[in-house]
Amino acid sequence: MRIAVLALQGAFIEHEQRLQQMGMETFEVRQLADWLQPKDGLILPGGESTVQMRLLAQLGLFEPVRDAILHGLPVFGTCAGMILLSEGYLSTMNIHVRRNAYGRQLGSFHTEGCVKGVGGHLPMTFIRAPYIDKILSSDCQVLAEVDGHIVAAQQNNQFVTSFHPELDSDSRIHQHFLRMVAGR
Ligand code: GLN
Repeated sequence: MRIAVLALQGAFIEHEQRLQQMGMETFEVRQLADWLQPKDGLILPGGESTVQMRLLAQLGLFEPVRDAILHGLPVFGTCAGMILLSEGYLSTMNIHVRRNAYGRQLGSFHTEGCVKGVGGHLPMTFIRAPYIDKILSSDCQVLAEVDGHIVAAQQNNQFVTSFHPELDSDSRIHQHFLRMVAGR
């Protein structure tokens, strides 16, 4: 399986390294020509969603990426990547997201929690993270909550986490995504 990793800005290298450790082939998407390569899945990394959105538009990637996701390409968005998929951004996933939801003081923290379908307790690293404050359609499933806030969800081919599994050594979240890719 060959996974595209959006590499415009943010924490993309950590995702690539993790997927490669898991035996996957990855390639970086920095421009339209990269995007046109064959791919089985897509990772939208954490970083700064406003910068990533601007670059997606400037590079002519916004529409092609959106179309591919709407046509079923499996996608995993972490943190800023989750924001990109949400209502008002790429708007492929029926979620409304609150950016920088934990404020400046509590912007970054580490905890553990369960993610439905993944199993067991997982490390969760939050960095100026968003959370989902509204699920806008019934085919979108809540997979995890922390302190009453939604921090992971899935809508068919789209999977998102507020936290950064690529920064912890546990690979179960990436495994979940790869199962989605394999089952497509
Ligand atoms: N605060 C960032 C944003 O709003 C997201 C932070 C992250 O991806 N770690 O885009």
